[in-house]
Amino acid sequence: MLKIKDLQVSYGPVRALHGVSLEVPAGKLVCVIGSNGAGKTTLLRTISGLLKPTSGSVRLGERELVGEKPHLITRAGVAHCPEGRRVFPDLSVTDNLVLGAFTRLKQIGQVEMHKGMENIFALFPRLQERREQLAGTLSGGEQQMLAVGRALMSRPEVLLLDEPSMGLAPIIIDEVFKRLAELRARGITMLLVEQLAFRALEVADYGYVIEHGKIEIEGTAESLRNDPRVKAAYLGQAAA
Ligand code: ATP
Repeated sequence: MLKIKDLQVSYGPVRALHGVSLEVPAGKLVCVIGSNGAGKTTLLRTISGLLKPTSGSVRLGERELVGEKPHLITRAGVAHCPEGRRVFPDLSVTDNLVLGAFTRLKQIGQVEMHKGMENIFALFPRLQERREQLAGTLSGGEQQMLAVGRALMSRPEVLLLDEPSMGLAPIIIDEVFKRLAELRARGITMLLVEQLAFRALEVADYGYVIEHGKIEIEGTAESLRNDPRVKAAYLGQAAA
């Protein structure tokens, strides 16, 4: 489904990604784990067309995405749920969701869009209870659910999730990961980047470890959970 090959990305003279290759098969949840500054956000922003790589390729099915404009990449079926849950604070929950469908409304159609919204409300009942509330007045966890829901409204081929746990209380993080497991069970294709390695590996099918802009280890989520190198690097978290 999504195939990334030898991606190199620089910020001026600073190289952030050194030839990253990875694959996200249809219907799978793939995670990229790594510490601060490893290059996770850079990777997702490059897939979405917000950053231009110096070389390499990003293919969605047969289509090459490198060089395409971000809105065309969204329309092709890549939805990006950015770090820091950027919702539109002055719009209601419902309006935020409607906007999520906007770029693909022609493909989706009004009827399907409303069905999509009902699906999101079934997945996140809290959003349904608060459908008329301004998004800026939701709790951090509710805003994260809304950000994920909004990305899903475009009926993406693949959903990119940038650290959905960021800044949330542990109990809310549990809730977010539970929802990600439900999305996986529904066959939504996802690429999740996370610092919380073990949480991500609990819900993922496959994982990559990124360090200093390079993939250092890859394998099934189970093999990575048992990998002594991963355990050593994320020891504090393994006990959590
Ligand atoms: P975090 O978990 O802290 O968000 P990350 O793994 O997402 O980290 P990136 O944000 O992708 O890491 O950053 C990768 C590297 O690129 C870092 O060394 C960072 O300092 C650098 N970098 C990121 N954005 C810029 C920028 N706009 N200009 C220059 N360097 C940048």
